Amino acid sequence: MADLIMLKCGELVLKGNNRKSFEDKLRNNLKWTLKKHGKFHIWISQSTIYVTPEDDEADMEGALEATKKVFGVATISPAFKAEKNFESICEVAKKKLKNVLENAQTFKVEAKRADKKFPMKSPEICMELGGVILEAFPNLKVNVIKPQVTVTVDVREEYAYIYCEKMQGAGGVPSGTSGKGLLLLSGGIDSPVAGWMMARRGLKLEAINFFSYPYTSDRAKEKVIELARIVSQYSGRIKLHVVPFTDIQLAIRDNCPEDQLTIIMRRIMTRISEIIAKQCDASVLITGESVGQVASQTLQSMVVTSSVTDMLILRPLAGMDKIEIMDYARKIGTYETSILPYEDCCTLFVPKHPDTNPKMERIEASEARLDMEKLIAEAVAGTQIIEIK
Ligand code: ATP
Ligand code: MG
Repeated sequence: MADLIMLKCGELVLKGNNRKSFEDKLRNNLKWTLKKHGKFHIWISQSTIYVTPEDDEADMEGALEATKKVFGVATISPAFKAEKNFESICEVAKKKLKNVLENAQTFKVEAKRADKKFPMKSPEICMELGGVILEAFPNLKVNVIKPQVTVTVDVREEYAYIYCEKMQGAGGVPSGTSGKGLLLLSGGIDSPVAGWMMARRGLKLEAINFFSYPYTSDRAKEKVIELARIVSQYSGRIKLHVVPFTDIQLAIRDNCPEDQLTIIMRRIMTRISEIIAKQCDASVLITGESVGQVASQTLQSMVVTSSVTDMLILRPLAGMDKIEIMDYARKIGTYETSILPYEDCCTLFVPKHPDTNPKMERIEASEARLDMEKLIAEAVAGTQIIEIK
């Protein structure tokens, strides 16, 4: 296993003056993610992040996997530490990179020298170490233009670091650098993917779930909590607001035309989400809607739903096919949980023939039969907050 992990920052190097605050966020996000794997020292220098274990207890393998989920990281390299003299650098390169170098045909050496007092300059390190590697691995030739393997030596104040592997990081920008969004999280396939996508663009997340006990079971709640937990591995800590929704659904069922049940339910979810978003300082709502996927997701339904709030609703999946969304769900690890067959509040009282072209006036007329203010106030008051860590 590697001595340390070296990460390259992604897009944030492009962000000029914001760079410092982006780097601080990224460092904090990494700290939070790696906490579960032991004690690590994390520092950033020249767009490179160095993650070193503080003691032998630290789980480097677990840490390496965890860093793959942190947004703002472009590449990940397990690296090895050498004393700061040329012999030690050669020894470490030959020994620790053996597996890779034995199985390649072409390579080159790159060197960086943060410590200008180191007696060899970068081109000299490249030349000399290149020679040593050629001698030790007769299978290799130098190719400076398109090598299969690039051996990088990074000479810093305390040690020299050596690596040749470069794994792809999660990309995106660090969570928390673009404000906060409230994710409408159901137990389905789509909304966790939507949350992941907006976290990748730097949004910190809170989540809200509408829960119709006893029509929806505790297992259904556990499923939503588990989905939030998986998304939090990427986004960082999530607060999940669980809103009691039974009374509202029963009131809609008893007072409104059957074909409008879903759209009215959706509008009330949006109203409550706006209130909770304001309470928790989220400036946008996020849903997993995709145009035309189901009756409640026709363009007209979305227009009628959105009209209850002035808040921006982000729908990152709006233009995606179900197959693509499912691919993402598998990739981020939410799919297996999402397909567990527990009921969601949306699957209760589903109209046989939902109105796919709802007219605003008709919907508003139906809603006038509900004591909207009271229903909403009670639901908000009964909301339970669960900390997902
Ligand atoms: P998902 O797979 O995310 O459940 P879906 O294809 O089942 O989506 P709908 O059930 O119509 O679609 O829901 C559309 C969106 O509304 C969801 O993506 C989610 O953002 C929100 N939503 C639906 N049900 C709930 C719920 N019980 N709690 C919170 N948000 C919900
Ligand atoms: Mg759903």
